[in-house]
Amino acid sequence: MSQEHAEKAGFETRAIHAGYEPDPTTGAVIPPIYATSTYKQDGVGGLRGGYEYSRSANPTRTALEGALAAVEEGERGFAFASGLASEDTLLRTVCRPGDHVVIPDDAYGGTHRLFDKVEQAWGLAHSPAPVSDVDAVRAAIRPGETKIVWVETPTNPLLNIGDIEALAGLAHEAGAILVVDNTFASPYLQQPLTLGADVVMHSTTKYVGGHSDVVGGALVVRDLDLAERVAYHQNALGAVPGPFDAFLTHRGLKTLGVRMDRHCDNAEAVVDFLTGHPAVTQVIYPGLAEHPGHEVAARQMTRFGGMVSFRVSGGEQHALEVCDRARVFTLGESLGGVESLIEHPGRMTHASVAGTDLEVPADLIRLSVGIETATDLVADLEQALGD
Ligand SMILES: *Cc1c(COP(=O)(O)O)cnc(C)c1O
Repeated sequence: MSQEHAEKAGFETRAIHAGYEPDPTTGAVIPPIYATSTYKQDGVGGLRGGYEYSRSANPTRTALEGALAAVEEGERGFAFASGLASEDTLLRTVCRPGDHVVIPDDAYGGTHRLFDKVEQAWGLAHSPAPVSDVDAVRAAIRPGETKIVWVETPTNPLLNIGDIEALAGLAHEAGAILVVDNTFASPYLQQPLTLGADVVMHSTTKYVGGHSDVVGGALVVRDLDLAERVAYHQNALGAVPGPFDAFLTHRGLKTLGVRMDRHCDNAEAVVDFLTGHPAVTQVIYPGLAEHPGHEVAARQMTRFGGMVSFRVSGGEQHALEVCDRARVFTLGESLGGVESLIEHPGRMTHASVAGTDLEVPADLIRLSVGIETATDLVADLEQALGD
């Protein structure tokens, strides 16, 4: 689809068509998997379409990167071997020893580990702050040293909401950039670049891939100078996906819109059921009016997503039993796939923060609500909760 066409088209049209024109030689409607590491040159330096070596660029990856930029309304998209690889590449692009980053106080565990155990050893400092508290984020900024304000919204597993527009404003006042990890919302529900963020990051392993069959990451950038520097580091560091992974991720992206609508429909049905259940003490979902981030979420998201957390009476023991008894919900980590998953954050995804300020309640259960038949999901939770 031409650039001009792509800019005017709706979300699903961009997700399906942007980044690729049917192959001029064969008419192939879908980008072929270019399983090649190198490219024949027409005379020294005579590259066809700019392709030289597949760490630098590969046509299957180029198609995915174009589509990612189009759905996030950015200037350029970049695909990586994993979400964490994209984060590391961005940090090495933007930061130098002595710099500082503000991160969410409930950041994704792997993101927290990257800052705390890896980047810190290379001289990059960080301070955790709650993304839902603009004043706390402002107070955590170190003038002159803070290069990035890094947020997730909604966060994991308590689904806290950060006000992207307000956070972009205060990052820019301090001479920093705002990076939004948009993994939980997906580009279908929230486009941070249109709200003032400078970079969007994804674990495409989750909703973008959507079928729990591929690990990947992405960055989408608004500013062309920054995009040039990211492109340089993507090639220089080399944490790129292979063409098979790029193909699967791109295939997933095309159905993101229809999948997300069903994720949201099913999450709403599950929330309705849980809200009325006597053994459930709290339901955490940004779509509920009593959620502290509801108003901000309603402003910056088109719907409230497929992640639901809830607490049960009977403490940790009951929470573990519910997880064990679920049958349609699969007991497992990760999220964002077509199949529903259930997990106990205290013992699973968030076990490493036990005993710290980030500890999550022991009676908390997290659901990644999939796109199965809603009545089956509700019936499964009903039997799992017992009586
Ligand atoms: C999974 C995840 C990541 C890390 O991505 P990987 O693809 O596992 O490397 C980062 N942020 C969030 C919010 C995630 O859920």
